[in-house]
Amino acid sequence: MSATPDQRSDNSVVKAALFGLCPRCHERKLFDAPASVAYRCKACGLEFAQFERGSRAASLVTFAVAAMLIGAVLLIDEWLRLPIWLMGLIVVPLTIATVLIALRFFKTVLLMARYQRSEEQKDQ
Ligand SMILES: [Zn+2]
Repeated sequence: MSATPDQRSDNSVVKAALFGLCPRCHERKLFDAPASVAYRCKACGLEFAQFERGSRAASLVTFAVAAMLIGAVLLIDEWLRLPIWLMGLIVVPLTIATVLIALRFFKTVLLMARYQRSEEQKDQ
């Protein structure tokens, strides 16, 4: 377990964010909703709540992603001049999906970093 944590951390964070993997047992128990971290792991009992205090930062992420998307949508609108209903049809699901993925990724990275820090403190 303790071998080369730096080498595998990049890969495992991406995988954990995609699949919602618990940082301790690697079961898919991290999220109980698409972008909502569960209170604790249903497989190993690790309390995620103690690592998840980034709710204000998470709303900042939401704002940043939404602002970037609005910019992108305005650009696309300039280019293509799609009818407004078609833009809505494309933009609304795209916005929801992008925000969810960004939040999921952000929360997972934050939670795994805090989990690793607390594990390191236990070792010392
Ligand atoms: Zn677990």
